[in-house]
Amino acid sequence: MSSILTKLPAISAQLKLSRNVIRSSLYNQVQLTNYTTTQTNTNVIKKHTLKDQIVQKIKIGGPITIYDYMKIVLTAPNSGFYMKQDVFGSKGHFTTSPEISQIFGELIGVFLLNEWSRFSETKPLKIVEIGPGRGTLIDDITRVFSQFSKARSCLSISLVEISPFLRQVQEQNLCGTTSVLEQEDSNKLNVHSSMTKLGFPISWYRDLDSVPETSGFTCYIAHEFLDALPIHKFRRNEKGEWREILVDYETPSSPNDKETLRYVLSRNETPASKTYIPPSAKDSDYEVCPDAGVFIEKIVQRLNNNSGVLLGIDYGYSEKLQQNINRDTFRAFREHALWHPLEKPGRADLTADVNFDWIRQIAEADSTWFGPITQQTFLNSLGVQIRLQKLLQNCQDANEAEKLKSGVKMITEEMGQRFKVFSIFPQESKHLFRNNPPAGFLEAENK
Ligand code: SAH
Repeated sequence: MSSILTKLPAISAQLKLSRNVIRSSLYNQVQLTNYTTTQTNTNVIKKHTLKDQIVQKIKIGGPITIYDYMKIVLTAPNSGFYMKQDVFGSKGHFTTSPEISQIFGELIGVFLLNEWSRFSETKPLKIVEIGPGRGTLIDDITRVFSQFSKARSCLSISLVEISPFLRQVQEQNLCGTTSVLEQEDSNKLNVHSSMTKLGFPISWYRDLDSVPETSGFTCYIAHEFLDALPIHKFRRNEKGEWREILVDYETPSSPNDKETLRYVLSRNETPASKTYIPPSAKDSDYEVCPDAGVFIEKIVQRLNNNSGVLLGIDYGYSEKLQQNINRDTFRAFREHALWHPLEKPGRADLTADVNFDWIRQIAEADSTWFGPITQQTFLNSLGVQIRLQKLLQNCQDANEAEKLKSGVKMITEEMGQRFKVFSIFPQESKHLFRNNPPAGFLEAENK
């Protein structure tokens, strides 16, 4: 057992969507019952909105896949949901574990330090976070790292963020500065570099491929990233054949009204339905996130080229953890409430549950895989309660103490059950985990 492992809880404690009649008849409209609210008339939307762009695209090319719809709505330059606003926290549209409790990031810091020590503290040490939101999680993690001199002296940070707006929010929060002009180098690999308030070199990239692979140990972190990637969505027709759910528009009944978006079922198989639905799919709905698969393959390759770990945390499902799995999970959130995914595109978050069993299948043969376990199990075995008590001991303010307690309750109870954690290590490192699974996965049933 590595030296940090035995002391984990002790360490935790110390850290502070005019279609003419002919076209309409091509597709059967479908209702996605789950997670939808009543769609309202949208003639209040301004001209040239994201919805106008989507309607235009459908007029030209026909109904689009949910995959294309999600991609446009979330990440279209300038107008995509993530591209133009701070969407997190109580004043935003949804909140995440690191935004709720500092202890979440601190314990992930402890987990990463411990795994680094298992790999003989191979230098240099790098953290690559994909989809960092406001930068809160990386801030809490690096605060932990800064307390360990061995890590402090060789740590650098890379953030992979598609949104220019959020890159600025991250820089402000982590470095105390905001770059007015992005310093793009000629090959456009590196968007910007700076130094965090804690003194760590930090660089921003638009995609994982642009992050240079370096020797040493790299900690990849994907927290609520996979659920933001676009999915294809399929449903069986009345004959039991798989068809793809597409987004079409409906011609308004009055010339003064705007088109509305609606779901339709493809009449025939689509390239995606032929490619992605496994013969074993038994339910009436099936979703697949191809980009998540590609992402995991790339990470596995990186881990095998050099040393490191991927820690993935997201909501989703696994037959390992639950029996009744809902495979119809595409939904939208606006201002912390469920929203119709086709209503006012760009103004609500679109998301889908992660299929951890599929991810595992992709990774497992070429890596050392652990999980998924629940976030609750993960945090408990890393000493969340001990850390909470420590913080409470030093807390003089009754409101602050209540916030600390309710924060831990949220991330360990409801969110603790819904969110799942998995970790991936290099294929050749299996022997390092014999009788000694990664920290936090200790109490879980693992192969
Ligand atoms: N991890 C953060 C934020 C999760 S929201 C937290 O838990 O608080 C998803 C994040 O991924 C946002 O920062 C979003 O801008 C980013 N993102 C979404 N699609 C992306 C893509 N294709 N490439 C890189 N970042 C992406």
